[in-house]
Amino acid sequence: MAEKTKCFVCGADAQDVVYIHCVHQGQEKLVCVRCLPVLIHGAH
Ligand SMILES: [Zn+2]
Repeated sequence: MAEKTKCFVCGADAQDVVYIHCVHQGQEKLVCVRCLPVLIHGAH
């Protein structure tokens, strides 16, 4: 992975958190599983 592993929602970069690749506003980003429910429910 070229870029640093970091959640684009909460900014977490912990090694013990699972990150999922996604596309946000046309850009590939990483989101941790803790923020995933927030995205799914559209709390943005
Ligand atoms: Zn997060």
